[in-house]
Amino acid sequence: MRKPVRPARRLAAVPRYLFAELSRKEAEARARGVDVISFGIGDPDLPSPEPVVATLVEEARRPENHRYPDYDGLASFRAAMAGYYARRFGVELDPVREVMTVIGSKEGISHLVWAMAEPGDVVLVPDPAYPVYATQAILAGARPVTMPLVAERGFLPDLDRISPEDIERAKLMFVNYPNNPTGATAERADYERIVEFCRRHGIVVVSDLAYVEMTFDGYVAPSILEVEGARDVAVEFYSLSKPFNMTGWRIAAAVGNAEALGALGIVKTNTDSGQWNAIQRAAQTALTRAPEEFFARMNAVYRRRRDRMVEGLRAAGLAAEPPRGSFYLWVPVPQGYTDVSLAARLLEEAGVVVAPGSAYGAAGAGYVRFALTLDDSRLEEGLRRIRSLDLAHSGSGSAVR
Ligand SMILES: *Cc1c(COP(=O)(O)O)cnc(C)c1O
Repeated sequence: MRKPVRPARRLAAVPRYLFAELSRKEAEARARGVDVISFGIGDPDLPSPEPVVATLVEEARRPENHRYPDYDGLASFRAAMAGYYARRFGVELDPVREVMTVIGSKEGISHLVWAMAEPGDVVLVPDPAYPVYATQAILAGARPVTMPLVAERGFLPDLDRISPEDIERAKLMFVNYPNNPTGATAERADYERIVEFCRRHGIVVVSDLAYVEMTFDGYVAPSILEVEGARDVAVEFYSLSKPFNMTGWRIAAAVGNAEALGALGIVKTNTDSGQWNAIQRAAQTALTRAPEEFFARMNAVYRRRRDRMVEGLRAAGLAAEPPRGSFYLWVPVPQGYTDVSLAARLLEEAGVVVAPGSAYGAAGAGYVRFALTLDDSRLEEGLRRIRSLDLAHSGSGSAVR
């Protein structure tokens, strides 16, 4: 006789991750011996900058780095981040009150939701979006309310469509530009509108800058903190993961509104003990040792891949458009397919993995996402296989099963 163990009830409310299903199918295909080409996961394929690796190695040998880090983060890393914001965005931050080290932005975002939202509160989340925003709201007992992002509005939220009741209960609003998964970008005027709305309604706006350095064709992405009065309501996450090819290192900063950061600090001091000092020192090197040159080299790589993919997908009958930011292509599915059926057919008949748009929310249905994080030869092989399916002429009938 054994009394069954039961996970917390709130886990039952966490939606099934379509991605998990996709990973399972991908693993099955690999196990069958299929040579899988994955455009699925947005994880940079190239190495971290050499000076950053060298700093880590050096710092790892210093015994003072073998102890617990400071709770709010290493003062020198926070100062380097403040210095970077001043140079890059013209935004002056107080490194003590307005900058905090987080263990990757995913950690910071998650704990900020716990710090700010409680049962009965609303968290405004874009749809489609990085799933963590809504999932953490659910775990914290709050209610995610979606702001649909549609192509006709440039994938920007329509603030007029949020109901007065939801506005009244809203504690947080998430925005993310350049956007995952759509590749859409925002101008400073868009942030001005969002900041004005959030100031008026006492909502903390969380700007996720994961792709801010990945831009093309002369476009430079702004920070929401460039907007006057933004620091009264805005918290921004600057992650080193994607721009510096450092996803494995788990290092980012939360910057902006000091009250919200203070609340985040209370959750964090009771949850984690901060990121390793050696990693923070290495991240300082990334921020101070000619980062612009590194971004320029990386963006040249992504731009070449982007243009080649757009060309190749169009030749395969897909309506791909080149984004000005991020390393994703957000491609509407051809007639006769759903995003799920297209992703399934690409995997089953071509060994090609893409992310179905509905994995990012209901408004993502009808799109698939291609990540440009694979080398030229794999990319070309993927395109060759996609072309061989003749998608433009084979939709109805074969696809929906
Ligand atoms: C990859 C990604 C993150 C995660 O960043 P970390 O700093 O590695 O946790 C956050 N937001 C978006 C939109 C992402 O695509």
